Amino acid sequence: MSATYNFCAGPAMLPSIVMEKAQSELINWQDLGCSVMELSHRSKAYMAVAEKAEADLRMLMDIPENYHVLFMHGGGRGQFSAVPLNLLPTDAKADYIVTGSWSSAAAKEAANYGNINVIDAVQDIDNIKSIKSPTDWALSADAQYVHYCPNETVDGIEIFEIPETNGVPLIADMSSTILSREIDVSKFGLIYAGAQKNIGPSGLTIVIVRDNLIGNARKETPSVFNYQLAANNGSMYNTPPTFAWYLAGLVFEWLKDIGGVEGISRVNIEKANMLYQCIDQSGFYKNNIDKSNRSLMNIPFWLNDESLNSSFLAEAEQSGLLALKGHRSVGGMRASIYNAMPIEGVAALVNFMNVFAERHKA
Ligand SMILES: *Cc1c(COP(=O)(O)O)cnc(C)c1O
Repeated sequence: MSATYNFCAGPAMLPSIVMEKAQSELINWQDLGCSVMELSHRSKAYMAVAEKAEADLRMLMDIPENYHVLFMHGGGRGQFSAVPLNLLPTDAKADYIVTGSWSSAAAKEAANYGNINVIDAVQDIDNIKSIKSPTDWALSADAQYVHYCPNETVDGIEIFEIPETNGVPLIADMSSTILSREIDVSKFGLIYAGAQKNIGPSGLTIVIVRDNLIGNARKETPSVFNYQLAANNGSMYNTPPTFAWYLAGLVFEWLKDIGGVEGISRVNIEKANMLYQCIDQSGFYKNNIDKSNRSLMNIPFWLNDESLNSSFLAEAEQSGLLALKGHRSVGGMRASIYNAMPIEGVAALVNFMNVFAERHKA
């Protein structure tokens, strides 16, 4: 069997070394005669797994002491509600920077809970999209927090500079960019990420929150979404997604072994460059994002001749290149190349794209 590479945007591929390790210990974990997924979350053996995963994530992201790391349920969308419920008093206002479909969805959900100032931060010049200069973002003087999405998974647009908010807590949906490049956590009030893009299996959500921001959740906040309760109970107020947490821990160990976030970020830049270069030089494919805001993780592209879309997808699949169909809202193709995608996978995709283009050029 020749290699298969899965470019799915999420749930996404996991490192093969991690999958093999999980498989080898699935049924008999640490000689206990049962699976890690069959253990009590309060057992000594499982607690050690949970604590190690948190310690490794803290090390990988250099998370300061005054931040809680919470392992929660509910995915990215769960946090679209949890953030305002925990941080936005009923009569207060929050700024939402909208740069694509996920930040737009976050703003819509938040509007159920309070006064949301939506800031459209994308400009379209000659069919090329880019992020407006942050000096043109009309931030409110009295916002409780500023929310943004550094990497828009559907649109393939990424903000590399951390926005300056003049002391107003900055909240980031990092579902598709967490651990892909180095960031200074101390610049953020809260970071959240669904696990299924760059961390592990779906079902787990990571929340990293500065300790002075929690403790004032609204009365109606569901207890399982209450950051203070989660922090007080070591993320075990209710049963956490234990297997996903364990697998995330294996991914963190893998990432440490291969040079941490700094190491993987160099590989990520190389992978993205290979693919954008192929698109730009082809005269056959195109991408619609300005070079300064092109995503390192999710790369949408279109064939100039869209009538070839279905043969492109069918032939790609025959070549072992899976899940390249673009999001239904934007069409075309999308290659998601998270940390777990090896450089060989991107090389195989580039090779396929070049051969396909040669064969179909008019
Ligand atoms: C996938 C994704 C979400 C949604 O995550 P769910 O876990 O499906 O709720 C939210 N934000 C971003 C940036 C995403 O990529």
